[in-house]
Amino acid sequence: MHDVPGIELCAACGVPRGLIRANVWLNNGKIAERKNPAHRMMFIENDSITGVFSRIEEILGLSIGHIIEESQRRLTRDYVDALLPSPIKWFTRVFRVDLYSKRLAQLGRLMGFGDVEILEIRLRRGGETRCRLGVRNVWFPAAFSGMVVGSLEALLGLECAGNYEEGSPGYHVFTTTISTKPRDLEGRLPLPKYADKLGDVDLPKCASCGAPRGLADFEWCLAEGTIVSKVNGQRMIVAGPGEFEAIFDELERELGEDVTRLAAEAQRRLVQENSLLVEAVGDFGRLRDQLALRGLGNLKELEWEGEGMRLRLENPCLKPILIGLTQGLFEASTGKEGEARWEESTDGDLFITVRTAS
Ligand SMILES: [Zn+2]
Repeated sequence: MHDVPGIELCAACGVPRGLIRANVWLNNGKIAERKNPAHRMMFIENDSITGVFSRIEEILGLSIGHIIEESQRRLTRDYVDALLPSPIKWFTRVFRVDLYSKRLAQLGRLMGFGDVEILEIRLRRGGETRCRLGVRNVWFPAAFSGMVVGSLEALLGLECAGNYEEGSPGYHVFTTTISTKPRDLEGRLPLPKYADKLGDVDLPKCASCGAPRGLADFEWCLAEGTIVSKVNGQRMIVAGPGEFEAIFDELERELGEDVTRLAAEAQRRLVQENSLLVEAVGDFGRLRDQLALRGLGNLKELEWEGEGMRLRLENPCLKPILIGLTQGLFEASTGKEGEARWEESTDGDLFITVRTAS
């Protein structure tokens, strides 16, 4: 058992009760925050996110850390800002920043971001102000750095700057300082708009805490700050897809590349190691449940025809991930290289077809 004070795991299924109090698995393939249902969440293999971005870096031969950091900073700032009671004056925020920081660190542990400790919070008006966090097993350093800077910006109402370094193997130190410029409230990034069709997914629930029973396949290692599949050992995280949609958009703007294809290409290799998904591909109900458990959308159709496979998803998110995932599943189950095509309907359904590559 990995006890951490203040975090209670459900005795029946082992899922943190705080996570289920904060998020709801809807029957339309989405996960949403209870307090802010427009904020969509997902529960996904860590490698599906970090692996895709490192593969994109490899293919392009350049670092995209700054784009990831910037996108996370802006979206986290808006998100935390919206959660705070308003209006709160600057000094009130400073007075309570310690409390908020502890709460955010605790939440990060439930979401699998790593073992976060607050090393230093020094807030002095007119003097040096900085926040240092030490994190073991951080899930994605560039994204985490953006999140810390964005959170502090929202708490303080001021622009911040951050940097990080790996102090020792597996342990990163994130330092955030405040710049003197007032925060520009203009230019708020809109959360991506997702289709919101009614659903019919009926994930069985834990009778004690209400979590989808499928989550019992994962272990919350609270002391480590990680979530690990008991079936295949893969690390999971709870994160918002919106942050990553914004990164894909940004990459497309900055690089002018077909980012969807690059990301799908990276994702398809990762899927083949994922036994939970690969075993589900021949069974419509199981695959639909696995996708809904991850909050990736509602699988409505899955057809195998001739040399190909075709599916339709309602309320999809992270299109590049879904396309790569489908192609990877096709390849894992046929042993043949696939070629994916996709289109979206006007009401937001995603159609993906994979055929044997010619
Ligand atoms: Zn439970």
